[in-house]
Amino acid sequence: MSDFDLFRLSDDHEALREAVRAVAEAKIAPHAAEVDETGSFPQAAYDALRAGDFHAPHVPEQYGGAGADALATCLVIEEVARACASSSLIPAVNKLGTMPLLLAASEDVLTRYLPPVASGEAMFSYGLSEREAGSDTAAMRCKAVRDGDDWVLSGQKSWITNAGVSQYYTVMAVTDPDGPRGRNVSAFVVEASDEGFTLGEPERKLGIKGSPTRELHFDRCRIPGDRLVGEVGEGLKIALRTLDHTRVTIGAQAVGIAQGALDHALAYVQERRQFGKAVAEFQGVQFMLADMAMKLEAARQMVYVAAAKSERGDADLPFFGAAAKCYASDVAMEVTTDAVQLLGGAGYVKDYPVERMMRDAKITQIYEGTNQIQRLVMARQLLARR
Ligand SMILES: Cc1cc2nc3c(=O)[nH]c(=O)nc-3n(C[C@H](O)[C@H](O)[C@H](O)COP(=O)(O)OP(=O)(O)OC[C@H]3O[C@@H](n4cnc5c(N)ncnc54)[C@H](O)[C@@H]3O)c2cc1C
Repeated sequence: MSDFDLFRLSDDHEALREAVRAVAEAKIAPHAAEVDETGSFPQAAYDALRAGDFHAPHVPEQYGGAGADALATCLVIEEVARACASSSLIPAVNKLGTMPLLLAASEDVLTRYLPPVASGEAMFSYGLSEREAGSDTAAMRCKAVRDGDDWVLSGQKSWITNAGVSQYYTVMAVTDPDGPRGRNVSAFVVEASDEGFTLGEPERKLGIKGSPTRELHFDRCRIPGDRLVGEVGEGLKIALRTLDHTRVTIGAQAVGIAQGALDHALAYVQERRQFGKAVAEFQGVQFMLADMAMKLEAARQMVYVAAAKSERGDADLPFFGAAAKCYASDVAMEVTTDAVQLLGGAGYVKDYPVERMMRDAKITQIYEGTNQIQRLVMARQLLARR
């Protein structure tokens, strides 16, 4: 490798980006408006992603997966999000749901649950949040009680992405109600067919309308003891460690949404004429475009650096995962809002995709921890270094 190759994506990563972009433009973008309008799961996108092995690219080869590294997984999510944010939650949440297993599960659990995700037969969701325990995850009330070799789950989880389409759910539940806060939670795999497990009605949302969001309900839901992920009492630690890694993927999603909006804005301002010239010729417009692209590129670089840290398991991943997600999502909100502005009235109506992208961008500032919580995570690691 020459010195000039040191700070750019590998040829393999660039080739992957091109391959995913081709699929996203041909097979995913054409359905994005309809998926948003009807609030329906993007089946065509799932089929196209499966055909390209992009639906859960992070699953290691030993479990039948594509074995994509964290940066490659981000590139997949970014390129899909550029066309359709809802569809990008297929690879993103397959990683979110299975990451606790990859971090902590026994070989038996891994060999049972990862191959169906790798083949595209099953999707995986992640159940941490509850109505009364969103940012304050340790306040969760959903509980699991041991009964012989089994565990019996009671309670609920809220706002769970891809609930209903996923076959499998990693669910965090209190296993020691009198135990120390945060160290009294364990993680389990729940299957969609488990008795006592039901779903709430789909939430009606501002954006990412093609990605179902529902509550999980557990009414004395009995699961076998071999569904435990990691050790008893380690569940919240595993869940938060998972987020260190997967926040980077939300950063990638945010970058993709922003890039999609910038691309549409760039095309529009060169076409649209006012005062006898293309609006792109006005310096006020050019300065907006330059700022959008500058911030977007900074966000992209931060996400890629964080992805490399995720892959290596660097000690400063919590800071970088939080910073990448926080910065990229703020940029996505700003860039999509400016894209709507640059399209004027056309930006505000559904004839162009930028209004959808602006609505889709908002969630990236909220889920996997709000951006206020990301700042707490960053500060905690900064102060711990002293
Ligand atoms: C569409 C969607 C999909 C989701 N998918 C999933 C999923 O798949 N799995 C899952 O487990 N969860 C999921 N979530 C839940 C999401 O992670 C939570 O909504 C989020 O963490 C915030 O929790 P909350 O909504 O309870 O907000 P709250 O915690 O009630 O926060 C309300 C406000 O107070 C602020 N705040 C709270 N605490 C502090 C603090 N200490 N310092 C400063 N400000 C603070 C917050 O930043 C926010 O602005 C999803 C949510 C949505 C909307």
